[in-house]
Amino acid sequence: MGDRVFNDKKRFIWILSLLLLAAFAVTSSISYQVAHDSLSKQIKENNLPLTSDNIYSEIQQDLLQPIFISSLMAQDTFVRDWTINQEQTPGDLIRYLKEIQEKYDTVTSFFISESSRKYYHSSGVLKRIEDINPEDAWYFRVRSLPKSEDYEVNIDSDTVDQNRTVIYVNYKVFDFDGNFIGVTGVGLAVKNVRRLIELYQQRYNRNVYFTDRQGNVTLHSEQYQGARNLQETPGLEKLATRILTSPSSSFAYQKEGQTVYLNSRLVPEFKWHLVVEQDDASSERKLLTTFWINIGLSLLVTLGVLIIANMTLGRYQRKLELMASTDKLTGAANRQAFEEHFAKALAHSVLDSSPISVLLMDIDHFKKVNDCHGHNVGDLVIQTLSHLLGGQLGKDDLLCRWGGEEFLILLPNCSLSQAADLAEKLRHLVAERELSVNGSQIKVTMSSGVAEYRRSEKPEELINRVDIALYQAKEQGRNRVVLSY
Ligand code: GH3
Ligand code: MG
Ligand code: MG
Repeated sequence: MGDRVFNDKKRFIWILSLLLLAAFAVTSSISYQVAHDSLSKQIKENNLPLTSDNIYSEIQQDLLQPIFISSLMAQDTFVRDWTINQEQTPGDLIRYLKEIQEKYDTVTSFFISESSRKYYHSSGVLKRIEDINPEDAWYFRVRSLPKSEDYEVNIDSDTVDQNRTVIYVNYKVFDFDGNFIGVTGVGLAVKNVRRLIELYQQRYNRNVYFTDRQGNVTLHSEQYQGARNLQETPGLEKLATRILTSPSSSFAYQKEGQTVYLNSRLVPEFKWHLVVEQDDASSERKLLTTFWINIGLSLLVTLGVLIIANMTLGRYQRKLELMASTDKLTGAANRQAFEEHFAKALAHSVLDSSPISVLLMDIDHFKKVNDCHGHNVGDLVIQTLSHLLGGQLGKDDLLCRWGGEEFLILLPNCSLSQAADLAEKLRHLVAERELSVNGSQIKVTMSSGVAEYRRSEKPEELINRVDIALYQAKEQGRNRVVLSY
């Protein structure tokens, strides 16, 4: 029976742990998924467009200023009058350009006259531009811009310092009749603009860059690691057209196994697209950490529940086992417990060839006790005697309530004569003792049979012999001990 209970317990513990773990795994995964989805949605629908708006408006403040300055220069009546008057005092224009450059803190300011093709710069007349010189191609491009377009933004190396890259605003200048008379404008150092982009990137923790209408990446931070154009960017090959043909777009794409959220918008003044990207790596990492903490906690809780369940079950099991093996009235062992103990004692005695004896005791004329004092008092007498007998036994001995008012005592490591001595002692003890039960003083005697276990004898045969001995004790007048030889 113990084994079956043990297996049931093991199965129960297994099922409990599997259920708990499955429940925890499912809830953790679901909450992870929900958090992940709402995070993605948050980035895509809220955070990213908002930052994109912010960056866009800051860029307007920071980058549109040179366009505005160039436009003022192109409208300036001094510049136009001076040009119409055959560029007579070059020093005046040069001083004007120098003032613009200093006042607005640009890296360059220039004017190219259509009639003389002279390149005026804040530092003097630099050169004469020629249509055969590829370096000067930009001028002829601006000159032939459609009527609706007054200027272009162009990134080129500085005319003065070839090592420096400059963002030029090239503005067309017209005389008062609308005839094209030259190109003027200012330039910003790309370095400064890059720093600006870096500032945005840091402030908003996003990847920020610009592309021209063909998808070429025109401006980016120092740390930019992407491709030269959108069409070559992994994951964006097919989406490039969508970005370049719409004034604004917003979507997610996969890059190296990560979801990247992208928001783009056309900056019409530059004819460039501002691209703001955000990957969900850091938030994703946080979610994953939370997920694993959840799983860890789940394991701990499962472990705790299992330990508690195991202990509780163990306690109940022991209680059940005790209940199944003891007599309720006396607390002595029952017949089933006797069988188990006898088998164990037998195994021991085989090992060290020690004797085993048994002692069967029955209360004499117990019916009278019941008749005189009632059944309840009879019960209490049985209980009192059981305690009396039990108190006389060694720790390896076992007291069993064999029948109504019969006790069987198992005495491992005990010979027939030792058992007879004990039986005599117990008989004496009981006979001498006046039991006070429920206010009445009761005296009883007991008869005993004693037998020692014989090798190769079956347990039933031993019990039979001791029973016969007890019967003989009754026959011979009771209150005595009879040995079975
Ligand atoms: P003797 O053993 O000396 O031959 O006489 P006895 O009167 O004790 O007879 P026997 O052992 O045959 O009968 C036992 C009686 O004990 C029968 C029953 O009424 C009573 N008895 C048995 N079990 C219990 C019990 O649990 N409680 C009480 N109160 N009485 C019991
Ligand atoms: Mg009796
Ligand atoms: Mg009896």
